[in-house]
Amino acid sequence: MRTLTAAGVALLIFLAGSAMLTVRTAFSQRGQASQTATRVMSRADRLLTEARQAMEPLTARAGQPCTAALQHQLEHQRLRSPYIQGIHLYQGRRAYCSSTLETFALPEPFTPGAREQLYLLPEIPPQPGAPVLAYALGKGESGVMVTLSTAPLVRRMTWHEGVAGLQTGTRVLLPDNRVMRLPPAWGGVTWWYSGLFDYSVFTREFREPVMARLWQTGKWGFVLTGLLALAGGWLCRRYLLTPPALSGQLGEAIRKGEIVPYYQPVMNAETGRVHGVEVLARWISGGREVAGPDAFIALAEAHGLMVPLTRTLLSRVLSDIQPLTFRLPEVFHLGVNLSVAGEDVRELERDLIKLKENLGRRIRVVVEVTESAPVVPGSQVVDMLQRLRLEGLQVALDDFGTGYASLAHLSRLPLDFLKVDRMFVRALQDLESENVLVDSIIALAGQLGLKVIAEGVETKCQAGYLLGRGVRLQQGYRWSQPLSARALARYLIWGGTSH
Ligand code: C2E
Ligand code: CA
Ligand code: CA
Repeated sequence: MRTLTAAGVALLIFLAGSAMLTVRTAFSQRGQASQTATRVMSRADRLLTEARQAMEPLTARAGQPCTAALQHQLEHQRLRSPYIQGIHLYQGRRAYCSSTLETFALPEPFTPGAREQLYLLPEIPPQPGAPVLAYALGKGESGVMVTLSTAPLVRRMTWHEGVAGLQTGTRVLLPDNRVMRLPPAWGGVTWWYSGLFDYSVFTREFREPVMARLWQTGKWGFVLTGLLALAGGWLCRRYLLTPPALSGQLGEAIRKGEIVPYYQPVMNAETGRVHGVEVLARWISGGREVAGPDAFIALAEAHGLMVPLTRTLLSRVLSDIQPLTFRLPEVFHLGVNLSVAGEDVRELERDLIKLKENLGRRIRVVVEVTESAPVVPGSQVVDMLQRLRLEGLQVALDDFGTGYASLAHLSRLPLDFLKVDRMFVRALQDLESENVLVDSIIALAGQLGLKVIAEGVETKCQAGYLLGRGVRLQQGYRWSQPLSARALARYLIWGGTSH
């Protein structure tokens, strides 16, 4: 199920990534087409503006005889722009006076007229084989005409995903510098109209489908999206999908023995020797921790799995501790957490008694319960605690001060130890200061005749303060982290007495 959901997440990431790539490619195609059209048009507008400026002083001369002075003037104006090939005066269809010093017939589709006109001519006699863009300013049969090279336009008509062209009248100029008749119906092109002159530019994208282009230009994008999708799916499976699926796995994990005991040493801070351990559950599967106890203990409580969980844990504790008994001090404290609200505790009670019997007299099994609703005088759990005490087990009230046990019924609970919660220990200031809360908890324990264990002792200063107040039994990272059974064995042999 988790794998399936993670695959779904990966698929979603892949689809979203692909959609973004597709949109980007489509937009970049459109963006490039519009950029190309703009480039061609701005070049054409500039050429034609230069052409108009060159022609304007000559319009009055149209129709006048072609003298050497007039030819000289035509040549002079032609030199205004490098792209002007020639300036011609025409009469009817004949260029009778020209900067190129030739006279010739103007080809189709040129027709003399009374206005400003643009033509694409496949060629004119002075430059055979080279198309020209002709710009004529006419007044009736006569007029001035500038012929412009198409080369600077054509150079701008291609981009790697499409082509552009220029159209005026019934002719089009293509990027291979050919002039053709405009096809009657022309699909697949986008038109861009000039606001200044009578021509338009068209663009045509390669008609490959976007997906094909996408694969050509965006292969690596796809590969990257695929990898991201796989990574996303894996991360989801590893981190996000774990908690909801845990409940289904926890029962299985208990059966398979994946819930194992770790042992955190409880130290005698006065002697620096190990006084005992607290058993802390860990969920280890395939060599790594699946979830922390705060998560899976709450889950087990919610699903009524605490009894089976604690029972498997206790059987592992027996097999872990029994071989170590010859390493242990005369009296060895073994704290076992118990939270079994609402479950049938009879088998567990028997297991606890058996554990004590099997471990022998040196080992004191101390059941740790937290202040919570079921741990009130007269409840089923408290009855069990009473019976366990009669069997020689001891009871500690865990996390004292964080729950809601009233002082009144604290004195009526069957207790031997009070565990000062790590929250209060963390709040401890330096050795001199007044630490009211801790001090009063310690005083209260004394008055009730209870021994105190401080947990979460992390610093030398905290340890010193507590010892100064008579709290010898201490637990925390200052002394040791919770240890696996093997690490505990090593600790007892090498490290346990060195503090
Ligand atoms: P807890 O019974 O109060 O256990 C002490 C917790 O404090 C442990 O967390 C321990 O690793 C942590 N601790 C120890 N020394 C230090 C320290 O110096 N500083 C700090 N900040 N923390 C320290 P862990 O193992 O994560 O267990 C969390 C809680 O889960 C336990 O709190 C206990 O309520 C519950 N739990 C763990 N194992 C069992 C179990 O077998 N049965 C039951 N019923 N509850 C368990
Ligand atoms: Ca505890
Ligand atoms: Ca605690």
